[in-house]
Amino acid sequence: MQRWLKGALILPDRVVPNGLLACEDGRITGVWDLEADAGAPAVPDGAEVVERGYIAPGYIDIHVHGGGGGDFMDADPEAVVAITTCHARHGTTGLLATTLTAPEEELIRAFRAVKAAPRRGAQILGFHVEGPFINMQYKGAQNPAYVRSASVAEIDRWLAEGRPDDRWHVTLAPEIEGALEAIRHLAGRGAVVSAGHTDCTYDQLKAGVEAGVSHVTHLFNAMRGLHHREPGTVGGALSLPGVTVEIIADGVHVHPASMQVAVRARGAENVLLVTDAMRAAGLGDGEFTLGGLPVTVKDGAARLHSGALAGSVLTMERGVQNLVDMVGLDLPTAVAMASLHPARRLGLEARKGSLAVGKDADLLILDDKLEVMTTIIGGEVFYDAR
Ligand SMILES: [Zn+2]
Repeated sequence: MQRWLKGALILPDRVVPNGLLACEDGRITGVWDLEADAGAPAVPDGAEVVERGYIAPGYIDIHVHGGGGGDFMDADPEAVVAITTCHARHGTTGLLATTLTAPEEELIRAFRAVKAAPRRGAQILGFHVEGPFINMQYKGAQNPAYVRSASVAEIDRWLAEGRPDDRWHVTLAPEIEGALEAIRHLAGRGAVVSAGHTDCTYDQLKAGVEAGVSHVTHLFNAMRGLHHREPGTVGGALSLPGVTVEIIADGVHVHPASMQVAVRARGAENVLLVTDAMRAAGLGDGEFTLGGLPVTVKDGAARLHSGALAGSVLTMERGVQNLVDMVGLDLPTAVAMASLHPARRLGLEARKGSLAVGKDADLLILDDKLEVMTTIIGGEVFYDAR
């Protein structure tokens, strides 16, 4: 089926105010600037016209545990669908199913539930295994009972559960026992290895990067901070070559000025927006659980009873709004941090992440406040609020 959209197109480097986009059979087949492209076709009669607002690429969230009442650790196909449909309504068209520190059997059950779940809403592009190979001192909301030393044998049992196209992303602490071997092993198998929930010093992170770490999980949260004589995990994350970072832009986890520091130090092209959302995302305040621990959601923050943050209730929609409103980023940069940068991080840049010919027709129609009006996934309308 062919679809035409006319309106302001958000490209990675600029907004085209008067643009035209065509897609067919799930792919983008044409992108034109109607004021500048001499070869642009006439706007067909059936074109949808977006009068106020924007046409944007679908968002990709590489760190999301739950939403709509479901958590990937529920290991339940219905919970998986609750998550993919909830986040699709808020602009996410692709995500990594993210697990928590848990016994190995529970991780395996969670992977299998994802494979068994019907495909509705956001596409599941692979897995983000956050823990169990982390540092107890920076466990955050991860359940300490199941934190353990890194094991290559266990990693191989996880990877054996993947589908051929699945992307794997593993958050671990590079300084713990067995971590360097695990990092080399994972990187050798094409997984993205990310430092997180870690007390690693600058030198330990540098050793991790030399072994294959190329990303840092929720920068600033659950890690050794920056000291001028010991730059720590944060200092290494902001300066070591070849490292990308992700930020939870809910305004609760990280101060907007710290987000500005990250974008300026690292370059926006190396910064990704993530939600780290837990099951309450898309619902209101109330009592929930995370990894078996009780969590209270109030005023946009999810906390354990100790007061520690327990994931977020952020959506990609709100995150992009925050990057513009709180951090002061321009619109193309904020959207690219939610689309192109994660697509590149997953090695999917040729297929996803921007409005470009040949890419999947994963599209959003946003209003002028960047609220998601319509979500189109693979050329099919999944959600339409208009
Ligand atoms: Zn997380």
